[in-house]
Amino acid sequence: MGIPLRQMITVGSYVARQRLAGRKRYPLVLMLEPLFRCNLACAGCGKIDYPAKILNQRLSVAECLEAADECGAPVVSIAGGEPLLHRDMAKIVEGLIAKRKYVYLCTNALLMEKKLGEYTPSPYFSWSVHLDGDREMHDKSVCQGGVYDRAVSAIRKAKERGFRVSINCTLFDNADPDKVAQFFDSLEEIGVDGITVSPGYAYERAPDQEHFLNRQKTKELFRAIFRKGNRGRRWRFSQSSLFLDFLAGNQDYRCSPWGNPTRNVFGWQRPCYLLGEGYARTFRELMEETDWDAYGTGNYEKCADCMVHSGYEATAVSDAVRHPLKALKVSLRGVETEAPMVPDIPLDRQRPAEHVYEHHVQRKLAEIEQAEAQAQAVARAH
Ligand code: SF4
Repeated sequence: MGIPLRQMITVGSYVARQRLAGRKRYPLVLMLEPLFRCNLACAGCGKIDYPAKILNQRLSVAECLEAADECGAPVVSIAGGEPLLHRDMAKIVEGLIAKRKYVYLCTNALLMEKKLGEYTPSPYFSWSVHLDGDREMHDKSVCQGGVYDRAVSAIRKAKERGFRVSINCTLFDNADPDKVAQFFDSLEEIGVDGITVSPGYAYERAPDQEHFLNRQKTKELFRAIFRKGNRGRRWRFSQSSLFLDFLAGNQDYRCSPWGNPTRNVFGWQRPCYLLGEGYARTFRELMEETDWDAYGTGNYEKCADCMVHSGYEATAVSDAVRHPLKALKVSLRGVETEAPMVPDIPLDRQRPAEHVYEHHVQRKLAEIEQAEAQAQAVARAH
C-alpha cells in the first residue's frame, strides 16, 4: 500500500467523524493551485491556457494557509501550474505541515533537485512527481525530451535525503497496458513509495483533444493493466482499493466533487478541480451555494467521460469507511478483471455543456486591472 498507516488512520477517523456528525458533503483533499504558470506545456493539459496577467497571479502564503483552515481537509495536494515556480512554496509547505496536514507537492521535477534543500523530510510531506510512463511515454506526454531522466534523477536524490516520493501518472487512450505495467514495475527500483494513477480528463482547453479516454475505454485499459500485475496487487498505489476497483468497472459510483475542493487564483472553483464553471469567495459559499446535482457523470455533458480521482476517490473512500470488509476484500484479492462490469451511468438526461471560459477570464482580467490601477494610485499618492 502506498499510503502510510498513520495517514490512513487519520483520514479514516476524519471520515468517520464527518459521518457521525451527519455531514452529507465534506472535503477530503484540498486541491491548492497557488499559480497556473508552468515551465512545460503538455499536450493533455487544460490548466495553463490563460493570458499572461492571469499566469502571473500567485496565491500568497497567507491565502494558502487560510484556505487550509477554511476547508479543514486532512490532506492538501498542491498542484498548478508548476508549484516550484512559486518563490514561497517552501513556506507554504512548512505552514501546512505545522497544521498537521498531509501535503503532496505535485511537480514535473524540472526544478526539484535545485530546490530539495529548501524542504525537510516529514511524515506529513510527500513529493508527487508527474510521470506518465517510461522515458518514451513520458517525454512524449510532456512534449519535451529529457524530462523523464531529470525527474528520475530528482526522485533518486530525494530518496537519498529521506523524503517520501510518490508519482502521479495520467493515462490517455494511446497507453499500452504492457508498457504501463513495465513502467510500474520499474518504479520499485527507482525507490518510489506510491503511485497515483488516473485517466486524463478531457479538458476543453487542452491542445490535444484526440487522446482522451471515454469511460468504457478507461475500464478496459485498467483491467488490462491490472491483469498484468497480479490484479493490481504487485504495485503500491496511493489510492483506495475501491477507487482502483471503480476504474476497472466494478463499482457504480457517483462523483463527489466536494471531496476535492479547489482553491486557486480565481477563488474556490465550482464544481471541481477539473471544471471551472464558476467561483465562490469562501469555502462555505462553495459548499452551500453550489448546485451539486447539476454536475457529475449523467448530469452534465462535460462530465460524461470522467473517472478522475478528484471526483471519484472521495466516493470510494466514503464507501470504504461504510463497508470496510468490501474494501479489505479488494485489497487482499486484487481488482476483479474478468467478471461482467457494472452498467454505466446513462447519459440521456445530462444537460448540455456551457461555455463559460471567456467570461471568467475577462472578469478576472478586469479585477487584476482594477487592482493594478488602485496600486498605481496609492503609489502616486506617496
Ligand atoms: S464528473 Fe465530477 S470530477 Fe469529473 S468533471 Fe464532472 S464534476 Fe468534475
